[in-house]
Order: sequence, then C-alpha cells, then structure tokens
Amino acid sequence: MVFKDVRIELTVKQLRQDNSECTSVVFERPINFNYQAGDWIDVDFADTGYMGGKTYSLSSSPTESELAISFREGISPFKRKLQTVQPGEKMYISQYGNDYGFHLRDNKSSVLIAGGIGIAPFRSMLKEMFDMSVKNDVQLIYLNKGDNFLFKDELEEWKRALPNISIEYIVTKELKRKAREKLLLSLIKDITHNYYIAGPEAMVENTEHFLIDNGVNIKDIRIDSFGTY
Ligand SMILES: Cc1cc2nc3c(=O)[nH]c(=O)nc-3n(C[C@H](O)[C@H](O)[C@H](O)COP(=O)(O)OP(=O)(O)OC[C@H]3O[C@@H](n4cnc5c(N)ncnc54)[C@H](O)[C@@H]3O)c2cc1C
Repeated sequence: MVFKDVRIELTVKQLRQDNSECTSVVFERPINFNYQAGDWIDVDFADTGYMGGKTYSLSSSPTESELAISFREGISPFKRKLQTVQPGEKMYISQYGNDYGFHLRDNKSSVLIAGGIGIAPFRSMLKEMFDMSVKNDVQLIYLNKGDNFLFKDELEEWKRALPNISIEYIVTKELKRKAREKLLLSLIKDITHNYYIAGPEAMVENTEHFLIDNGVNIKDIRIDSFGTY
C-alpha cells in the first residue's frame, strides 16, 4: 500500500559515511510513523524543495528507533544537497509505502538478490528478522562491483545469530554476464522460493528474466527497481 500526499516532517540526526562510496542519512523517527521492512519513502528538503523529491528505500528496520536511507554518492543537485545535510535540518516525506508487496512473507523460504545499493531494503528486512528472531529460511545473494559490501559487518553478525540466514557475496567487477548467471544458478538450490530483487533497473530486469527463463514462476518474484543509476 502507498500512502500518498502526506507531509511527514523529518529531522536529520546524523549523516553517516558507511564506506568509501555510500552514505546514510539518519533521521529521528517521527511519532506514530509506522512502516514495513522493504518500504520506500519519497523524501524532499523542507526549505527549498526539489521537484517532488526522490525515492529511497528505508534501510532502517521498523524495530529501530531511527529512520535511515542509504545511497551511493552522486553528482545530481539533490544528491549534492543530501550529502551535506546537517543535524537538525528538516526534510519531509511526501509519500511512502510499497506498491508491489516487497515484504517478506512467512509461508515460504526467500531468496533476496541485491545489486549494490539494492542492499538497502534487505538490510531493513534482515535487521527486523534478527530483532524478532524470525525463523524463516532466507538466503541473501549480494552482488557488488567491488569487495566493499555495505553493511557487511552487521549482516555477518545477524547471520551468526540466526542459522536460518545464509549470505553469499559476489564481486561482479571481473565477472562476465554468463559467468555471473552460472554462479547465481549454482547458488539457488531450487526454484520454489519467493524471490526478491533490488538494485539498479538493468540488474533487476536482467535477473528477473534470468529467473523466469530458469523456471521460477513470475508470481514468486518481487522487484524493487531503483531506476537508471
Ligand atoms: C523504489 C525505489 C527505491 C530506491 N531506493 C534507493 C536507495 O535505497 N538508495 C539509492 O541510492 N537509490 C535508491 N533509489 C534511486 C534514487 O531514487 C535515485 O534515482 C538514485 O539515488 C540516483 O540519484 P540521483 O538521480 O539524484 O543522482 P546521481 O546519483 O547523482 O546520479 C545522476 C547521474 O550521474 C551519474 N553519476 C553519479 N555519480 C557519478 C560520478 N561520480 N561521476 C560520473 N557520473 C556519475 C549516475 O550514474 C547518474 O546517471 C530508489 C528508487 C526507487 C524507485
């Protein structure tokens, strides 16, 4: 469900440099703001505004007392401003939610496939699983250009605590498409899972088609496409 035409004020708490390429903006959690792991927000600056703002998955979990969005550093006017926000600065959410049911379900095991910053909604899901000791089987396949996997320390901690979580990290920089697909296929043990794919549009589309070509039912695939990066 998507909550449209809202204006929920956000106060920046911290700008956190997560690694050499990625930054998170941490906000105080507005009173009574509820969301589900996997949801996104449309966020904008309260003072200047930026043509309806931009969409970011919440990388924080509903079990946490703060909200966070995480992004690759960029060059657009919006990103330049986002990369320099100060504690106390006001932003706002103009809509939020999730239109394609990008939420973990209890009934089946799940395979989460992240491309780069596509890890953001999965961090939210896995943190919630960890905090609530959820026993579903979840396999995260995390593709990234280099070996600086965002949130790796936390992910490893949650994996150690919950044996039902497994994680595979794949560095794609020198991996040709065929080799990447072969590897992906070898990691997916059978096709009867729920599949979730998040990341840049091309990666999401290619992976979705690849899964369908290999027998996965389209109804079992949910995508979170971040657009052209
Ligand atoms: C449902 C949904 C969820 C999303 N969730 C997230 C999320 O969690 N995190 C996230 O980051 N994005 C997310 N996005 C994408 C986000 O909305 C922006 O589109 C994205 O961050 C790109 O930002 P930007 O256009 O402001 O600019 P930039 O990142 O500045 O990119 C603008 C252009 O410049 C290029 N560029 C960037 N850096 C450089 C450089 N150093 N040198 C040369 N060229 C460069 C880019 O490739 C791009 O073509 C999501 C989108 C959707 C629809």
